[in-house]
Amino acid sequence: MGDIPESHPRRESLLSRQKLVDAASKGMLAESALIAHGRGEAFDYLLGEKTCDSARLAIMETAYRLLNSEKCVISVNGNTVALAGPQLIACAAVLGCPIEVNIYYRTPKRMEVLLSALMEQQQLALNLYPQIKNKITDVKILGGNPDGRIPNLEGPRANCHSDGILSADTILVPLEDGDRCEALIAMGKTVCVIDLNPLSRTAQMATVTIVDELTRCVPILLETLMQNSVKSLDWNNKENLENVIQEILRNFNK
Ligand code: ATP
Ligand code: MG
Repeated sequence: MGDIPESHPRRESLLSRQKLVDAASKGMLAESALIAHGRGEAFDYLLGEKTCDSARLAIMETAYRLLNSEKCVISVNGNTVALAGPQLIACAAVLGCPIEVNIYYRTPKRMEVLLSALMEQQQLALNLYPQIKNKITDVKILGGNPDGRIPNLEGPRANCHSDGILSADTILVPLEDGDRCEALIAMGKTVCVIDLNPLSRTAQMATVTIVDELTRCVPILLETLMQNSVKSLDWNNKENLENVIQEILRNFNK
């Protein structure tokens, strides 16, 4: 993939696909992960492959909710680790919170591969973000020894850590599944999600939905978390999602 010219119009998309193909061959992903990515790509096309104004507002609100939480956590799955692991570790470092692997199709092998990928990415993040080096070293990577369960969810996908997802009041879950989002909301948590599909159950159910591509919005979130000027926006998630849909319609009429 090193031979894709800088000017290739689909460069970012091709690089992301390659990252996922590599992650799949390492055993980091469930079989359906590439399909999930493809569905996301289709929505990104409709959004003009850019961060829209509504997404920028949702990033600001997410930063506010995370910074003002009692206890927060970042929950990651295979696609998230493959595409934005180091950047999310940096977000966790700024927040002083853990990062927890919580996957839909949990197998011991996949968990092991993801946890060791995150540990490597933690080292990488030290080089990428030297200004927060000490905080990056302090980030706890959870998921290996779940001792709690998300109520009202069947199977291993409910497993979680009592000092991570279970006890956090605020959770950032890029690429969450609808069922689990519903279960987390039912627990009374503030759930901030990143999902390119404004119509998904996840997007509709979350407290704050960032409708943007993961690798594009996480660096903006990190920058926002590092600012002193984060403010609450009197948040109406339904209204923000409607504005995203209007944005898609405007792209059609251009
Ligand atoms: P839900 O479970 O919320 O009802 P779903 O079952 O349609 O939705 P899933 O298969 O659970 O969706 O997850 C795939 C979704 O993840 C895609 O539709 C897309 O919106 C989102 N997604 C995938 N890749 C990315 C990405 N790189 N950035 C942002 N969102 C993404
Ligand atoms: Mg789903």
